[in-house]
Amino acid sequence: MSFRDQFNITPQYLPKPSKRRSGMPISKVRFIVAHDTGNPDSTAAQNVRYYTNSCNDMSASAHLFVDDKEILECVPALTAAPEKAWHVLYNVPKDNELYGVNANDAAIGVEYCYGANIDADKAYEKYVWLLARLCDEFELDPSKDIVGHFFLDPQRKTDPVTGLAFSRRTYEGLLRDVAALFATRNGAAETTASFTTIGSKGRATTRVKLNLRNRPDTRGDVAQVLPARTEIVFTATVPDGEPINGNALWYRDAEGRYFWSGGVDIAPETDNSNDSKALIRFDNIDFSNLDLPVTRTQCMDCTGWMKLHFEEQFVKATADTPFVPELLYAIACQETAIYWHRWVQDHTPDEILQHCVFDANGDVNGNRGVFPKNTAAFTAKYGQAFADMLIQEANAMRSWRGWGPKQWVYAGYGIFQYDIQAVLDDEVFFREKQWYDIGQCLDRVIKELNSKWKAHPNDLFQTVKAYNGSGNRAENYARNVFRFLNWIQTSADA
Ligand SMILES: [Zn+2]
Repeated sequence: MSFRDQFNITPQYLPKPSKRRSGMPISKVRFIVAHDTGNPDSTAAQNVRYYTNSCNDMSASAHLFVDDKEILECVPALTAAPEKAWHVLYNVPKDNELYGVNANDAAIGVEYCYGANIDADKAYEKYVWLLARLCDEFELDPSKDIVGHFFLDPQRKTDPVTGLAFSRRTYEGLLRDVAALFATRNGAAETTASFTTIGSKGRATTRVKLNLRNRPDTRGDVAQVLPARTEIVFTATVPDGEPINGNALWYRDAEGRYFWSGGVDIAPETDNSNDSKALIRFDNIDFSNLDLPVTRTQCMDCTGWMKLHFEEQFVKATADTPFVPELLYAIACQETAIYWHRWVQDHTPDEILQHCVFDANGDVNGNRGVFPKNTAAFTAKYGQAFADMLIQEANAMRSWRGWGPKQWVYAGYGIFQYDIQAVLDDEVFFREKQWYDIGQCLDRVIKELNSKWKAHPNDLFQTVKAYNGSGNRAENYARNVFRFLNWIQTSADA
């Protein structure tokens, strides 16, 4: 799907002429004002209905309302020639200082809906897209031409900071997400993100003042500037970054930041034979038509959450293996993040690990091919008490999702979804509920990956594919994991 068609914008214009909608055209859209409704739990439809019913009571208005369900345009902006709306007081001076014009005469006002009954992830995704879409339409620069209402009218307003904070998001994060999406709107980042990463450890010392960037080229954002003669440890090399003076070699540090090799001296190599990582290549992977369980934003949020709580364990588990921790974050994004990304605000990490019991397909559609084919098969071999314990665990998860109990032994356990078929030779994991423990989950995923790596030496993609199974489904699984891995590795936040 193309960027422009990612979401629908539904016109639902206010009556014209009216106090709220004068019909006066905006001759040139110069910037965008980001608002929130200031009215938690009110939806886009409710806001537009209220504006319509009170269209001659007062002159306040905005162009667009966004919630988790829809984007409504009540004053023309994108669905027809743009008209003026009244969303910032004329007498505030800041809009004139910044853009040389009053917001009401030259800006599009976009209202973010939030609250307990609005799925913030979905609403936020639409909001980010809409701001990027407006920048694209009116040839604006998302890094300069979007401004928060609070910034224009700090005495009276806090939007959209307040609305974003409702789901623990920030205004700075919003601008970053819009800029990132805008940069990829023509698929540009797909190609620029294609480079080769080779695990390799060493020490470098800066010769000059040196930029650490979020990708191995000079268009990447600068995450930090190091003074000359600073020592820095790198964990990977990139032989095909942007060539500068004919030299395309870049390095990546442990935090995923890149620096050009021409700006550093490399310390003599110490022994790294125990720490050689699998080559990760993105250039030969088809990232089109993916069916991803979570969005890029959710992938990054979930990775941030895993790092915050478990980074040390992930690093420890992958030491002395061909795998990097980012691969395991990506697998968790593919396996289970779709379920738990909405739990992280209200539950502890321990509680979330405990509730990672998913996949009832043997009982739901009967097409599970391996032991146990369903709950009856499990109970026949392992008895009622063991089955009841697992059924209870599944029902604890079900109740978190608002579902009633079932008499089903589920198939997937833990953040990486260790399959119940492993009970045949790893009974203790299930009997002792070891998926509660991230260390045990990591131990099992690494064991499985190691065995697949032996079967597909030096081919990480085939390893990940085999980890899932075989055929088209496994191919798509591996493509998804690499999509997440690429996002995680190329993000400045990672
Ligand atoms: Zn506002």
